[in-house]
Amino acid sequence: MKLDLSISKLIELIHGIPSSKLNDGVVQQVIYDTRRIIEADACVFFALKGVHADGHQFIADAYQKGVRIFVVSESILTENYHDARFIQVADTLQALMDLAFYFRKRLKGKVGLISGKIGKTSTKEWLYHVLSPEFSVSRSPKSYNSTLGIALSLLEAKPNADFVLIEVKVHSELNPKVINELIQPHFGILTKSISYSQQLYETYLTDLFANCESVFLLENDFNLSLPQTNLVTVKAFQTENNFTNDGKRMNVALVAAVAQYVGLSDRLISEKLKKLPELALRLETFEGKNGNFVIVDLYNLDLEVFRSSLEYQMAIAGDKKRAVILGNSRESMNQDKLYDLVHSFHPDYSYFLNEGDAFDDNLKDTIILIKGNSTKKMLRIANQLKEKRHNTELRINLESLRKNIATYRKQLPEKTKLMVMLKASGYGSGVDKIAQFITGFGVDYFGVAFVDEGVAIRNVGITKPILVMNAESENYEACINYQLEPAIFDFEQLDDFISECIYQGVEHYPIHLKIDTGMNRLGFRTDEITRVLEMIQSQPEVRIKSVYSHLVEADNLNDLEFTRHQIEIFRKLVEIIKKSVNYSVEQHILNSSGIENFPHTGFSMARLGIGMYGISSNPKFQLQLEPVISWYSTISQLKCVKTGQSIGYSRSHICKKDTLVATIPVGYADGLRRSLSNGVGFLSVKGRTCPIVGRVCMDMVMIDVTGIPVKVGDEVEIIGQNCSLNDFAALCNTIPYEVMTSISQRVQKIYIA
Ligand SMILES: *Cc1c(COP(=O)(O)O)cnc(C)c1O
Repeated sequence: MKLDLSISKLIELIHGIPSSKLNDGVVQQVIYDTRRIIEADACVFFALKGVHADGHQFIADAYQKGVRIFVVSESILTENYHDARFIQVADTLQALMDLAFYFRKRLKGKVGLISGKIGKTSTKEWLYHVLSPEFSVSRSPKSYNSTLGIALSLLEAKPNADFVLIEVKVHSELNPKVINELIQPHFGILTKSISYSQQLYETYLTDLFANCESVFLLENDFNLSLPQTNLVTVKAFQTENNFTNDGKRMNVALVAAVAQYVGLSDRLISEKLKKLPELALRLETFEGKNGNFVIVDLYNLDLEVFRSSLEYQMAIAGDKKRAVILGNSRESMNQDKLYDLVHSFHPDYSYFLNEGDAFDDNLKDTIILIKGNSTKKMLRIANQLKEKRHNTELRINLESLRKNIATYRKQLPEKTKLMVMLKASGYGSGVDKIAQFITGFGVDYFGVAFVDEGVAIRNVGITKPILVMNAESENYEACINYQLEPAIFDFEQLDDFISECIYQGVEHYPIHLKIDTGMNRLGFRTDEITRVLEMIQSQPEVRIKSVYSHLVEADNLNDLEFTRHQIEIFRKLVEIIKKSVNYSVEQHILNSSGIENFPHTGFSMARLGIGMYGISSNPKFQLQLEPVISWYSTISQLKCVKTGQSIGYSRSHICKKDTLVATIPVGYADGLRRSLSNGVGFLSVKGRTCPIVGRVCMDMVMIDVTGIPVKVGDEVEIIGQNCSLNDFAALCNTIPYEVMTSISQRVQKIYIA
C-alpha cells in the first residue's frame, strides 16, 4: 500500500522539526527495520527504540541502502549524510502512532477488531471470504502483538474499503486503552478464549472494545461491562458441515453473526459458509509390493487429521490386515495421544519408529498407514514399500541430457537465463533425479506443473527457485513451506494466494503472472493486466517475480507469423509491467522450439522442455542433439508356434509358418500402446527388428523372433538405436511428449551418468 503523503504533511502530522530546509517530496512507505528495505525510494525510516535495538544505530545502513528521509529522536551528525533529510521528534514511536491515527481517521468503512485466544486468523479470513465480494474488505496481514504492528496495519489498510479488519493478540505488553484509541473499532469480535484469568481478562477486553457499537462473543464466554455496546452472544454451530472441531464451529458461528449484522441474507451466508477454506489434507495412496496397499499421511501430527486417516484405513481394509507406522518426531508434544489414538483403532500391527530407525518388516496383503511429519525418513519408508519391477527399464542418459542443455544454452544470448521444465514428472523421466543431476550445469530455474513435483525437488535438497504452473489453492500452504513460486492466472487465485501469505505472515512472496497471448488456455487476458497490477501493488504480501506466456506454434517452420505476433503482444505487455513496478521482473515466452527458431527476442529467460531429451521439430537443430531416453525389457519366455495356430487374445494373429514367439513383460499398462498390435509396431532384439504379433496385452506383448539366436533373459529394445523416440511416436500416431509421459511410473528408471 502506498502512502502518497507529502513530506510537509508528514512533518505536520508528527509535529517534527526538519534538520534543514527541505524541498517537499512524497513518501510512500514506512520502514523501521533496515533488513526489510527493498526499494529505498520514497521510504521514510523511523528510528524506533526497541528493547533489543535502537533504530538510530541503523541509520548508516539505511542510508547506504538508499533511504534519504529519517525520523529521529536523537541528534545525528548530518554531515555524514549530506543529501539526507532528518525530521526531529520527541518520541519516534509516538510519531508513528500519530501518523497511523491520521490514516485511521481517513478510513471510510467500518473497522472491526478481532481478538481472543483461538482461531483469530481463521475467523478473520473466513469473515473476509463471507463478506467478499459483496463488500470490499481490507484485513491486517498478521496478528499483531505490538502497538507498532497495529500502527503499521492502519497505514496499510485500504482507505475506501467497506470493512477493515484488524487482528490483535491479547498480550501483556499491549495497553488496551491505547489500542482502542488508535483503532477506534466500530465493532469487535471475540473468538474462543478459554484459559485466561477471567477477571483480568474482562477488564482488558472492556478497555479493548470500549465504544464499539457491537461486540460479538460466544455464549457463556465472558461478561463484558459495556453498557453502550450491543453485545451479541452466539452459540456454536451444530451443523452437519465439515467443521468437526469445536473451536472452529464456534468461530464459524461468530462469522455468521457478523455477516447477518452487516446485512447479508441468510441464504447467501449459508452458501458461503459451505465454501470456507479448510486445512489441506495430504493423503496419498498407492499399490505396494507384496499385495500391500499404502496410505501415506504426512501432513502433520494433528490428531483430527490422523483420526480421519485411521478411519479411512479402516473403511478400505475390509477383512484385510491393517498396519500403522508412526514416525516419532522431537517436536511433537502429542506423542502419547497419537499412541492412544492408534491403539483405539486396534490395528493388527503397529510400529513406532524413532529418528534413524529402519523399517524392515515383510508385510503382505496389508493396508498400511504411514503417519508422521513430512520427514525424509517417512518418505523413504513409503518408497521402500512401493511395487518395483526390474525387468523393464527406462534408461535416461544423463551425459546426453547435459550436452543437449548446453546446446540450447549456446543458442541463446549469454545473459538469458534458463528455466528447465520438469512437469509431468520430468516428462516421465523422474523429476527429483533429473533436477538433482542438472542443477549443476547452468540451470537458473525449475518449472513444474504441480506442487507435489516441486516438493519432490525440494526433498532432494535443491534450493534453486521453482515455478509451479498449476498450484491449487489447497496446496498454497505447502507451496510457501517449500518455497515454491506459483504461477497466477486469474483474480480468484491471486486473492487466495495473498490470503495464504497473510495467514502465514509472509511478505514479498514471489509469484509469476501467466498471460494468454493466443493459446486461449490459462492466463490473464492482456486487457486484465492493469487490474492485476493494481491488486498486486496494494498488497505487500506478493511481488511479481516474472511474467510469462506460452507459444502456440513455434515449431511451425512453414509459417512463423503467428509466433511473431504473440511475441509482439508479449513485448508490449512487458513494457507496461516494467513501467508500473519499480523492481525488475523476469520475462519469458520461449519453449524449446522457440529457442531454436527465435533465440534473439531479448527476453530475460527461456523455458526448455522436450529439447533437452534430444527432440526437435527443426531437422537441422535435431542433428545437434543426442537421444536421452531409451526403453528396454527382457524376454520372459520363448515358444514355437505351429503354422495355423493363433497368438494372443481374439486370435487376431494366425501363424502362416512355424514361428518362434518371444513374450516380453511390457504391455499397454506400461505405455506400450495397444494400437501397435499385429505388426503396426515392432521391438528389436540383437539389432534386428521383430514385429509385434497378436494384440498387445495389459502387461505383456508377443514378438516374432524367428531366425534370431535368442534365449530367455535377452535384452529387448522398445525405444533406442533401432527405433528412436521420434519413430516410436510416429508409429503410435502421436508426438514424443505423449509417448514419454505415458510410460508408466511402474517402469523402473535407470539413470546412466
Ligand atoms: C511444457 C512447457 C514448456 C516446455 O515446452 P517444450 O515444448 O517441451 O520445450 C514451456 N513452457 C510452458 C508453460 C510449458 O507448459
